[in-house]
Amino acid sequence: EPQSYDVVVVGSGGAGLAAAIQACDEGAKVLIVEKMSTIGGNTIKASVGMNAAETRFQKLKGIVDSKALFYQETLKGGQFKNNTALLKEFVEHAPQAIEWLAERNIELSDITITGGMSIDRTHRPADCSAVGGFLISGLVKNLNQRNIDVMLDTSVTEIRYADGAVQGVELLNDDNEILTINAKSVIVATGGFSANSEMVVKYRPELDGFVTTNHKGATGGGIAMLQKIGAGTVDMGQIQIHPTVEQTTSYLISEAIRGGGAILVSQAGKRFFNEMETRDKVSANIIGLPEKFAYVIFDEQIRMKNKAADEYIARGFVISADSPRELAAKLEMDHHAFLATLESYNVAVEKQDDSEFGRKTALRQPIHEGPFYAIRIAPGVHHTMGGVMINTDTCVLDLQEQVIHGAYAAGEVAGGLHGANRIGGNAVADIIIFGILAGRNAAKHAMR
Ligand code: ADP
Repeated sequence: EPQSYDVVVVGSGGAGLAAAIQACDEGAKVLIVEKMSTIGGNTIKASVGMNAAETRFQKLKGIVDSKALFYQETLKGGQFKNNTALLKEFVEHAPQAIEWLAERNIELSDITITGGMSIDRTHRPADCSAVGGFLISGLVKNLNQRNIDVMLDTSVTEIRYADGAVQGVELLNDDNEILTINAKSVIVATGGFSANSEMVVKYRPELDGFVTTNHKGATGGGIAMLQKIGAGTVDMGQIQIHPTVEQTTSYLISEAIRGGGAILVSQAGKRFFNEMETRDKVSANIIGLPEKFAYVIFDEQIRMKNKAADEYIARGFVISADSPRELAAKLEMDHHAFLATLESYNVAVEKQDDSEFGRKTALRQPIHEGPFYAIRIAPGVHHTMGGVMINTDTCVLDLQEQVIHGAYAAGEVAGGLHGANRIGGNAVADIIIFGILAGRNAAKHAMR
């Protein structure tokens, strides 16, 4: 006799957990299935924060922002290829999602900025720490308070579909047992496919050999499962490489460090591009350097304001020196060039005018207080913007753009929102906003 639930959530990243919590709060009986042995997916690795405009926390800090500007900047960052209906929904619901989290004791009250944005709207924990771990631990507390069932080490292998609607799922657990679950709604929140190099290279042959920042569960199985029941896909070739990845460990060096004032310097000791441009452009300019890598450079003041910097130091990524000259020597860099670079950058900060590279944001402070720090970085595969087609209710759509009854998708598995380039801080916003919507709609569908 198969077990029955109202809603099965596939995947325990941010989208899956937000969906499960909301569905439970709607009164649904919810099961979360996670193929890995731990909760959190790739979300647990999220670093910079969650974008939203017109929030209470922005107002508290006196930051003037608008949803219209957030919309425009996301569209521009996505090279105007974003699904505008999804984008409108996203921008509109972002401040509510920040409050939804706060009501659940997950407060993102500090604010920074990411590439492609003109205003501080990236919300993060009060202590400026990485958002992912904080978010997942807060969501897990909420799961536990609600006694939501979770199966770990268990994969959903198939979505059962008959008579024009979803009927449930088939599972495979770590004892190799196949289980059948009945459910009227299935929310697929399985994340992206950055860790499936075969699939990445299929869509983007030139990304062969690139490292990925993603956890190893990011293999795109959810997309294939939904395609089997008729789902359409969109933007599959839109794959983001993140500009600043430590190459020996594939560890992401967060954009927050540039948002906090760091610069990028080439082996020649020179800045080469606006560090606060979008990820696609910054990545392309690093790959365009003769040595195809660069250094993130910062000083003691910037380190003190970015908790992640201490993590980078602890992990051994950071080369430090008491003076810029000594740092250049350690990097085997022309110190005349490097000193001149710092000097002209510091003048740009003082004048708040970076005429050379056009950096308009995060010209926060001069880089002049020792110790001085460098991290060697190059791009890595980071986010798959494409995925299954959904509508603004998170219903999965078929090839004719008709709703597949009972099938919902949220988070990185869904395509369209980010267009050709995702803005830093928009993934966490995506998973929470659309996770909540999926939970609400899936619960209503199952219980009507
Ligand atoms: P998002 O950011 O969209 O929430 P994440 O990558 O954080 O996505 O989380 C997706 C989760 O889904 C991961 O923990 C991954 O292991 C899990 N997952 C992927 N495919 C399956 C599957 N077939 N069955 C169960 N869990 C899956």
